[in-house]
Amino acid sequence: MHCDLILKNGTLVTPAESFRGDVAVSNGKIVLAGKPDSLDTADDVYDAQGKFILPGIIDAHVHFRDPGLTEKENFQSGSIAAAFGGITLVADMPNVLPVTSTAERFNEKARIAKEKSFIDFALFALLAEESDIDGLKKAGALAFKVFLGTSTGDIASPGDGVLFEKMSECAGAGMRVGFHAETSGINSHFTSICKKRNDTPVGQLLADARPVVSEVLAIQKALCYAQYTEAKIHIHHVTSRDGARLIEEAKGKGIQVSGETCPHYLLLDANRGVHKVYPPVRGLIHRDGLWDALGRGIIDMIASDHAPHVAHEKELPVWEAPAGLCGVETFVPLFLNEVNKGRLSLNDFVRLASEAPAKIWGLYPQKGNLLPGADADFTIVDMNLKSKIEISRLHSKSKTCAYDGMEVQGFPVATIVRGRFVMKDGLLTGDKGYGILVSPAL
Ligand SMILES: [Zn+2]
Repeated sequence: MHCDLILKNGTLVTPAESFRGDVAVSNGKIVLAGKPDSLDTADDVYDAQGKFILPGIIDAHVHFRDPGLTEKENFQSGSIAAAFGGITLVADMPNVLPVTSTAERFNEKARIAKEKSFIDFALFALLAEESDIDGLKKAGALAFKVFLGTSTGDIASPGDGVLFEKMSECAGAGMRVGFHAETSGINSHFTSICKKRNDTPVGQLLADARPVVSEVLAIQKALCYAQYTEAKIHIHHVTSRDGARLIEEAKGKGIQVSGETCPHYLLLDANRGVHKVYPPVRGLIHRDGLWDALGRGIIDMIASDHAPHVAHEKELPVWEAPAGLCGVETFVPLFLNEVNKGRLSLNDFVRLASEAPAKIWGLYPQKGNLLPGADADFTIVDMNLKSKIEISRLHSKSKTCAYDGMEVQGFPVATIVRGRFVMKDGLLTGDKGYGILVSPAL
């Protein structure tokens, strides 16, 4: 058989196992993933000796700020950063300008992203009073997002009645609803108190200003809606042990809920440094609780919540600066470093950052696996490569990074999207406009 591309001599990694094997690609699809020397010729052969071949890593929570906030990022700069970071597919959030709440706006955003993106993308729609659930589903929306509590864009959740009605419609349409789970009344009250305190390190004050109960109340509310509407829900960026426990209990009751957490909640500590992000980075008890929940499958997936801002905005006094950390390019290296430290296996990483997001967001088996027929998306990694994360080498428009100067072992060395190298050996080899909108099957 003659193929377009063969990846030879690498170690293939699935959630279940790692094994030496070759991968053959034709017309952008995997045709075979198997034992060495079982394959024939190809136009292009890549020698992956000493490297691991992962199914394309998905970052299912990014803010590329396009349209409307493109001084912070756009689909071109964001997708280039993603390609260098070993990401083959991103799912972008709807808190742009205008918010992605109608099919018309969705189509316009998809057009902009298609024009600029180097990698594949999926787009969330905003669940708002004006949202036409079926129309947005037909337009190709990945899922819906609700902001319980405010974040960038200060987008309020619809009122309780509208939210209930819209979630019932989502249940009927089979569309999952993702929640930014915070409680505005709690946050505004404690923020005004914390702004006046100077008895505590600022990192901890940021956490105290949006306490755990803010997240817990919001998750309880989301779960209650899920229970009574029978909509599938997802809790984005869980920050606390208590939040993870609620998800565990709900899963036990048969509520269709999935959970996500992010590198900053797993790696940073509110008592060391100031990293302003909503919801906030917390202390070690919660960090350990989240690792435990990941290990036990309570938290289903990880994503970066890449949330760029302009440098001068982040340099404002801490209570005035916008919340958000960059992460799409450092996501894979940070977790490969944790694999090298023994905190999780490479198989776990593939489950949490490829298979699980593809399954939860309805893109499996097109994405998230190494099976014949799937899109030929691969993240090829070198687990021995050591380097420093340095802001000056990152490709986001935003020059903020919580991990600047950190020595990391394990980096992506190639990013392949539908059979085509988009990044190879530290060089951008893809093209603007190559990425396509990926949607759940109707
Ligand atoms: Zn976000």
